[in-house]
Amino acid sequence: MTQNHISTTTAVDDGACESNEQPLTAARRGPEWMTYWGCTPWCVEDHTDPVAAEWHTSIPVETEIRAANLDSNSYTAKDNDLPWLAARIVVSNYLPQAYGRKTQVWLDYGKQIAELSPAQARKALTEMQGFVAQLQAVVEQAEGIAADDFEGDPEIARLDREASDRRFKARTAELRTAKA
Ligand SMILES: [Zn+2]
Repeated sequence: MTQNHISTTTAVDDGACESNEQPLTAARRGPEWMTYWGCTPWCVEDHTDPVAAEWHTSIPVETEIRAANLDSNSYTAKDNDLPWLAARIVVSNYLPQAYGRKTQVWLDYGKQIAELSPAQARKALTEMQGFVAQLQAVVEQAEGIAADDFEGDPEIARLDREASDRRFKARTAELRTAKA
């Protein structure tokens, strides 16, 4: 496979009407593209983009739930749309004669990315399968416990807030007197 990044680009312009569909794969871009960029057939990286990765990336699988929905504190508008969990295949084969070829599974947890070997990914998967059963037990127990949850009385809550407000003001006044 050649990866001549110096010669003129052979980008295939497939139009910009794909945004709502699956990303464009290298197989669909054609053999010329694949040879030029050393692409795997399933690679969805647009290597003509100046900030594109040098590696080859599959369409990620991801949870519908967003990380920001679970952890609203540490997510800004920029990464608000990151999935809670995602996984993709990444193949690095830049100058393979020199550097070889390496396949990884990139496992995202919100903003965090774990770059795993397939063996590490298998281990994580096995662990996760065990964890799913444990999580199920925790959720089922919590659902049972939550059956006895109830809303408080807003009037009593208001009186409680007012009382603690009075205590706070009284204490502040005491401290001021002590200082003076
Ligand atoms: Zn590629």
